[in-house]
Amino acid sequence: MKVLKFGGTSVGSSKNITNVVSILTNYAKTDKVICVVSAVGGVTDKLLEAGQLAQSKNSAYADAFSNIRTIHLNIIKELIPSNNETVLEEVEARLASLKNLLDGIFLINELSPKTSDKLVSYGELLSSFIIAETLKSKGANAERKNSQELVTTNSNFTKAEVNYSITNKNVQDYFKNSTFDITILPGFISKSVTGEITTLGRGGSDFTAAIVAAALKVDQLEIWTDVSGMYTANPKMVKQALPIDKLSYQEAMELSHFGAKVLYPPTVQPVLSLQIPIHIKNTLEPDAVGTIISKDGSNVNNAAKGITNISNVALLTLQGNGMVGIPGFSRRLFQTLAQEKINVILITQASSEHSICFGIDEKDAISAKSAIDTEFENEISLNKIDPILVESNLSIIALIGDSMKSHQGISGKMFSALGKNNINIRAIAQGASERNISAIIAQKDIKKALNILHEVFFEGNTKQLNVFITGVGNVGERLVEQIKQQRKYLKENLKINLRVVGLSNSRKMIFNDEGLSLKNWKEQLANEGEDATLEGFYESIKNLNLRNSVFVDVTANKDVADLYAKYLKESIAVVACNKIACSSKLEKYKELKQLSFKYNAPYLFETNVGAGLPVIDTLNNLIASGDKVTSIQAVLSGSLNFVFNNFNDTTKFYDVVKQAAAEGYTEPDPRIDLSGVDVARKILILARESGTEMDLEDIENTSFLSEAGVKSDTVDDFYQTLIADEAHYQKLYASAKANNSQLKYVAEFNNGEAKVGLKEIPEGHPFYNLEGKDNIVMFYTKRYPEQPMIIKGAGAGADVTASGLFADIIRIGNN
Ligand code: ADP
Ligand code: ASP
Ligand code: MG
Repeated sequence: MKVLKFGGTSVGSSKNITNVVSILTNYAKTDKVICVVSAVGGVTDKLLEAGQLAQSKNSAYADAFSNIRTIHLNIIKELIPSNNETVLEEVEARLASLKNLLDGIFLINELSPKTSDKLVSYGELLSSFIIAETLKSKGANAERKNSQELVTTNSNFTKAEVNYSITNKNVQDYFKNSTFDITILPGFISKSVTGEITTLGRGGSDFTAAIVAAALKVDQLEIWTDVSGMYTANPKMVKQALPIDKLSYQEAMELSHFGAKVLYPPTVQPVLSLQIPIHIKNTLEPDAVGTIISKDGSNVNNAAKGITNISNVALLTLQGNGMVGIPGFSRRLFQTLAQEKINVILITQASSEHSICFGIDEKDAISAKSAIDTEFENEISLNKIDPILVESNLSIIALIGDSMKSHQGISGKMFSALGKNNINIRAIAQGASERNISAIIAQKDIKKALNILHEVFFEGNTKQLNVFITGVGNVGERLVEQIKQQRKYLKENLKINLRVVGLSNSRKMIFNDEGLSLKNWKEQLANEGEDATLEGFYESIKNLNLRNSVFVDVTANKDVADLYAKYLKESIAVVACNKIACSSKLEKYKELKQLSFKYNAPYLFETNVGAGLPVIDTLNNLIASGDKVTSIQAVLSGSLNFVFNNFNDTTKFYDVVKQAAAEGYTEPDPRIDLSGVDVARKILILARESGTEMDLEDIENTSFLSEAGVKSDTVDDFYQTLIADEAHYQKLYASAKANNSQLKYVAEFNNGEAKVGLKEIPEGHPFYNLEGKDNIVMFYTKRYPEQPMIIKGAGAGADVTASGLFADIIRIGNN
């Protein structure tokens, strides 16, 4: 004999019921089958809604009833298209009595737990009847037995306790004489010893099946549902979750008690001592292997088996100096809760005994508080303890597995992963069995936490990066294209799942928390984007609350740079080619570095110096490995290089600068480049990264511009001075030529001091042959005292800058 149970979705439509019928008729070829069914998917909720409406004198209950009626009648018409009159008649009769009950609730304005059980019992009564009639109409030797005549309970309405001695006898007696191949039983519903309708608690059909399986000592209990087994995490919350092949009873109990809804928690109890295996299967994918729960569990060497969560939890704290060393407080506390029938999910007590913290269902918080405050009224009035503290909007997250006890470092790994992503932990509990480590966190963090822990414990080190790019001009556009091209490679070779979740330019912004399809991102941004603001972009990223979030600044905007601190405080990494923040006041630079450290959020700006050249990363590696920088000599301006490579006695300085501007090598205001400020900012960043604390004003900047050029107020005036002072610039060239040298704009850092300026570079010097817009950086260090370490290559350009940004993003992925 076999016991199968089909849940709400499995019997939620005529199509799914057809699947169920075929599974059952197949099984019945070789064995007798008992099939426990839930109400049609969603109907229990709908019945309760109708009841609530009726109770609150809202006549819309009649519409809710009509909806329930239509759902059932449609299913019958689809499943039994012809000769269905008697079935329809019978169902209409039951529906009429349901309507009577609702009318009664409406009239008396009251829905007691007792009436509520009576009300919801219609769900399973109807579904079991319809399924049995469908089987009969297909010629199966099937019958429906009302399990209320078998499963007997106490009168604890809405969650009654089973009287096993009566129930087992009823079940055994009934099936001893049953001749049917297939027996359909409604799950969830029962009757009290005194004959009143009771239920076994929401989700209780699983339990009915387990009770029957145990009473008949069958070989296997099958729970058919809408997912392919018990998963490593709720598949609706964690897309990457995978079905678990095998679990021990204890693991399954732990997982279900801590929120894995796929199995109603008490289900394991009746079958455990008889060691009847439970097989969880998917009605929608009958060939999937599913999960087997047995005494053996699995021999897979994965310490953690699953992660679960319970939402809507309240954390209550009883504390006060009067509690220390005095026995009896806990007893009184938990007795009070028991009297109120409040279930405690988790308890922690600080070693000072000064406080006890416990987690309960949020809906019980008010009654718990008032009962406890009453119990301790006297102590509270004497200031021995404080009135109980209630915190809401919390969730419990639990990591579960039998062999966690024999593995070290699991909780460390769990809490550090949560901490790295800025998830605040309110309380922690670890059972003495070490099968479960649970933590209380904010409800808003639950999805993120589940996904982080899933990644860390189950995804073989694949790391998801959630990238938000602001500024999709020239460089930003290349970055998006490069990401689009490399995504597959990164996933396969570096185990980085890089998703661009948000994009913004100065006008529009778009988001997709599943990752934007980058196919037509420009059109998407233009057509579907919402109006962009810098704060709005930040708020959206914060609210999405995705793990490993990276904000990428591809602007040169000060207002964007001003928001880095806010991002870092949310543990959102910042990658920037914008060098304003890094070259601003020392305090600002230090603050960002500290925030990055404190919130474990990388702040990377490789492209601030030398575009895509690995200048800062190399410098950081030298220092991290114990080297010390003594001197840096560098040519860091692509635009100035262009200017001095093209300026000679046959060209005019003005023309060359104009050309540099036209080809996009200078800032719109060429004075930023020609004054040396841009280069000064770069050497400042290198000096700071080398460990020297300095500000822009500390950098000696000898201008090569004419006096009038330095003083010019506007860009136009400035250009006029270039024409007027041609002789000044030709003199610079002539001097260099006479000395057989090239003019280069050089940045230097020596023993804590930095300067920038135009220099005559003699032949043979590494800078002498620097072409086009190339940059060069020479690091003299303790380990490279004579021959410097040299980094050289294109120091400007959209593609190389984008790849520098990309490299920073990948660094975060590899972190
Ligand atoms: P049924 O109606 O078949 O009893 P339930 O809705 O009670 O189905 O349970 C199945 C649902 O449990 C799944 O659709 C899934 O959303 C949820 N669930 C939560 N945690 C898990 C988990 N760890 N593994 C599988 N399903 C889970
Ligand atoms: N129909 C009931 C519920 O929705 C029982 C069950 O489906 O297991 O809670
Ligand atoms: Mg269920």
